[in-house]
Amino acid sequence: MTSTRQLVTGWGRHGAVDMHVVEPRNRGELERVAAPSNNVVPRGLGRSYGDAAQRAGGTAIATTGCRRVEWLDQASGVLRADAGVTIGELIQIGIPLGYFVPVSPGTRNVTVGGAIAADIHGKNHHVDGSFGEHVQQLTLRLADDSIVECSPTNEADLFWATVGGMGLTGMILGAVITMAAVPSSTISVETTRHDTLDELMGIMRNSDAEHDFSVAWVDLLTRGRSVLTQGGFADAAEVAAHPAGPLRRPRTPSAALPPLPPIRWVQRPFVKAFNELWFRRAPAEQTITHESITGFFHPLDAIRDWNRLYGSTGFVQWQCVVESDDALRSICADFASQPAFFTVLKRFGAENAAPLSFPKPGWTLAVDLPATPKVFAALERFDQQVVDAGGRLYLAKDARMSRATFEAGYPRLDDWKQVRSAVDPQRRFTSDLAERLGL
Ligand SMILES: Cc1cc2nc3c(=O)[nH]c(=O)nc-3n(C[C@H](O)[C@H](O)[C@H](O)COP(=O)(O)OP(=O)(O)OC[C@H]3O[C@@H](n4cnc5c(N)ncnc54)[C@H](O)[C@@H]3O)c2cc1C
Repeated sequence: MTSTRQLVTGWGRHGAVDMHVVEPRNRGELERVAAPSNNVVPRGLGRSYGDAAQRAGGTAIATTGCRRVEWLDQASGVLRADAGVTIGELIQIGIPLGYFVPVSPGTRNVTVGGAIAADIHGKNHHVDGSFGEHVQQLTLRLADDSIVECSPTNEADLFWATVGGMGLTGMILGAVITMAAVPSSTISVETTRHDTLDELMGIMRNSDAEHDFSVAWVDLLTRGRSVLTQGGFADAAEVAAHPAGPLRRPRTPSAALPPLPPIRWVQRPFVKAFNELWFRRAPAEQTITHESITGFFHPLDAIRDWNRLYGSTGFVQWQCVVESDDALRSICADFASQPAFFTVLKRFGAENAAPLSFPKPGWTLAVDLPATPKVFAALERFDQQVVDAGGRLYLAKDARMSRATFEAGYPRLDDWKQVRSAVDPQRRFTSDLAERLGL
């Protein structure tokens, strides 16, 4: 096991803190590691954007050495994995047997522990819900060092408080997960371009249900012109011509970002030019293409450290969910004053039993922005619009929201606090995010 002192940040590379990082080499060491009596934060691959997996002056226990898939039932696709197994590894193991992860985020570099703790969602939320809904059982190391099993039927309150609980109910050691059966490893993707936000919203509202996956890129500097991609795994017959058969492990090439000068290009003319290219590069007429798992779900992984693009001050991702069309229209219109790349819109389905889970029915908008005081000040206005509309912001992306914004967005917070107080009255597990939001 290694234990080092490091400067730690989230994926946004903003707000680095000095802390100890302990890395057990396997599940046995993770179960037994002698952790301090306070200021302990579980950590996966640090893909949460803000301060969820760090604690200034504290200790992170990283699960990245715990990478064993203990068993996989080939008939049902149910498997038991250590907390540090990644989404990418689950895909590599599952695909030859006809199974894909039930929910995939926009990067394969997320651990099972991180996926459960943030209750991550994917392009299929409107059909399949979020990651926690596919977990049958969790093994947790609690603050008193006892190890417990919980599930939706056994210690259900603890189970749901851990799903989306951002590592604050204990250390997830492993989980039993149901994978999704797929006929091939190729995604059949329908791409359409739309000139206005209203047109896009109408199409998504009417046609999302017909597709397993749906997501749109939106140009917020215009009236919301957009590129919508919707699809599902292709039938084996559709891709039968491929010599390697329908189920092929995805290739995962990745290159380092070339050395670049500190970037100050998140300015209107650059974003405008980029958006123009991005929009024009999509076919003008409705098109159906076949895409690989990597190309469809994880294109950003092609450049392994793209988070350095924003320079030394880093960046944040602001992601909200609001139910009303009018609230979305007004937030989008306001973003015309904040040039941003990579603006993504999707519709969520139903919320689940986890009190701190982010998704709930409505529109979710995610926007990457440089982490500057000016941007942070402007985001207060957007936060208020979300609160006024009865929406909420995503904890796994957050680095800056106020406690009032958080509390307004999560009405089941008291239910979660009750469970947390019962299992960790001294708040041994904490994080900078938890301290900032009064968790
Ligand atoms: C490029 C990119 C695309 C993304 N796309 C999506 C997306 O489409 N949908 C989505 O929902 N999210 C998305 N995310 C966010 C990401 O899925 C979550 O932040 C996820 O939690 C990161 O997992 P991790 O293993 O890196 O965990 P970390 O970032 O290290 O930790 C995240 C949280 O989980 C807790 N945690 C980690 N491991 C454990 C454990 N073993 N036990 C208890 N708690 C634990 C930590 O304390 C922390 O609170 C994306 C992130 C990136 C960088």
